[in-house]
Amino acid sequence: MTGYFYLLEYKVTLERLFSSTDLTMSSRLGLTFAIMLDIKKIRADFPILNRKVNGQPLIYFDNAATSQKPTQVIDKIVAYYTLYNANIHRGVHALSQEATDHFEGAREKVRAFFNIPLAKQVIFTSGNTHSINAVASGAHVFVKKEDEVIVSAVEHHSNIVPWQMLCERVGAVLKVIPVLDDGRLDMHAYHNLLNSKTAFVVVNHISNALGVTNPVKEIIDAAHQYDAMTLIDGAQSCGHMKLDMQALDADFYTMSGHKMCGPTGIGILYGKEEALNSLPPYQGGGEMIDQVSFEKTTYAGLPHKFEAGTPNIAGGIALGAAIDYLNEIGMENIAAYEHGLLVYGTAQIKNIPGAKIYGDVTDKAAVISFNVASLHPYDIGTIVDKLGVAVRTGHHCAQPVMERFKIPGTIRASFAFYNTKEEIDVMVQALQRAVTMLS
Ligand SMILES: *Cc1c(COP(=O)(O)O)cnc(C)c1O
Repeated sequence: MTGYFYLLEYKVTLERLFSSTDLTMSSRLGLTFAIMLDIKKIRADFPILNRKVNGQPLIYFDNAATSQKPTQVIDKIVAYYTLYNANIHRGVHALSQEATDHFEGAREKVRAFFNIPLAKQVIFTSGNTHSINAVASGAHVFVKKEDEVIVSAVEHHSNIVPWQMLCERVGAVLKVIPVLDDGRLDMHAYHNLLNSKTAFVVVNHISNALGVTNPVKEIIDAAHQYDAMTLIDGAQSCGHMKLDMQALDADFYTMSGHKMCGPTGIGILYGKEEALNSLPPYQGGGEMIDQVSFEKTTYAGLPHKFEAGTPNIAGGIALGAAIDYLNEIGMENIAAYEHGLLVYGTAQIKNIPGAKIYGDVTDKAAVISFNVASLHPYDIGTIVDKLGVAVRTGHHCAQPVMERFKIPGTIRASFAFYNTKEEIDVMVQALQRAVTMLS
């Protein structure tokens, strides 16, 4: 009880101290407490937020496509090329040592951030799509002829096509977990799909098209009951919630640097040590070998087996800086603040006559996918862009989701921790103007 009163008092004090922009109310364990982010200071870290678009201050609500980058990350890229640009792992000279230390230091930051047991289980790739392909292209060691691969109906194309290619190659069958009207996966159907032929289950943690968080722990545990391998596409979760690879227990988990405040061209593939050891390399070349001769080549150990050629050195180092930045704010704080934006934004959008939200459930990320009456999302997107508001329109690389809901696409507003309720108000005004113009 003392804790309860302490929290209430804390909440009231903070409410008095800060304006509503700085505060997000979050309900945990039935208690209300306040999450405070220094939004002014955070926004100052993102130089792009100062620019204008079409003469209007930029309001960036396309964070599910890519996040913006703080100065700390941009400076790290410049520092690498200005001060210690060299190829890594092979040089004895000082610059190469320095670059290697920074790059491997970043790998260690990734390891700690996601609670991964060993740094060698962190494979640097060029992005989330590359990470998925690296697994799918070698997955014939896990998936045999007539086996079954289960995907979900809410996947990004990059978590569908590589598995279709695998199934074609080995003669396996692709099965799909259907999605319910509210955007949640039909878990009853999932459990019925599982059987002794199930060899691999792949789903996203958070759908980029709807924002719905999938019950991945339940999905992974059920797959393991049938000795199936699992891969979780974490492109939408990695920058928005605290993740713990050991608690989750997926065999593979993929992430995108550019969706967690890092640069483009860098991604992460995490795997259990045994799974990564079983998986054959995706590409051959330098860095990934142990011994090369024309009779037989042996591969290097982890992580180098999967990192053929010169990696994105600057990108890896800058991703390390992005992780430092996110850690400083705290992933729990980020998640709670963004949830506040989601709740506020959802209520405001629902006030627009004719608005319909797809995936309107409580367990979701700060992504709102919607349409207004029968107006085309593209027309609305074009008008709000003229007013400085960047939202995504279209099928969001998830055409099966749009087919499921029988729509050509949606308008998608996706928030990050540097966005504010005031920006949501401006977006809603812009949407209302667009609807008036088009109706
Ligand atoms: C963005 C995204 C991808 C693709 O990631 P890239 O890093 O751009 O290759 C895959 N899946 C989901 C759910 C995404 O949001």
